Amino acid sequence: MSTECIFCKIIAGEIPATKVYEDDKTLAFMDIGPVVKGHTLVIPKEHHDPITNTPDNVLQDLIVIVRKIARAQMKGLNADGVSVSQANGKPAGQEVPHIHFHIIPRYENSSSPRNWIPGKYSSMEEMAQVAEIIRNAVDNE
Ligand code: AMP
Ligand code: ZN
Repeated sequence: MSTECIFCKIIAGEIPATKVYEDDKTLAFMDIGPVVKGHTLVIPKEHHDPITNTPDNVLQDLIVIVRKIARAQMKGLNADGVSVSQANGKPAGQEVPHIHFHIIPRYENSSSPRNWIPGKYSSMEEMAQVAEIIRNAVDNE
């Protein structure tokens, strides 16, 4: 638990949240600023951040609950699709430094935009060079 963390305060019951799922390790609750109505956050009850410092077992438990909420949005809200997003660091748009996944219901014929604008590489070679840098940096644990 981090005493300054707003999501830890939600877990501790110190500030309210509208919960949709809870088990001993994970909590899912409504985002107060929904991109689309039904936008849900999934967080671990242990404080971890960012994804690069989050243990394997915590991530594994989280992603299974992300799928559970995605299924519930499709079944319960009749969503036609679901966006899953997760930000790390201010340049990525992260506001709350407690790892969380956003699960956002999506609808055909909806005006809500995708949350990025596709860019371009100057050439296939440039893309291959960037891929090579990432490939060489992959940590084979
Ligand atoms: P991020 O920008 O990825 O860190 O996302 C943080 C999200 O937390 C935003 O979408 C906020 O709307 C949401 N949020 C912040 N405070 C609360 C709160 N008290 N209850 C529910 N959602 C919150
Ligand atoms: Zn926290």
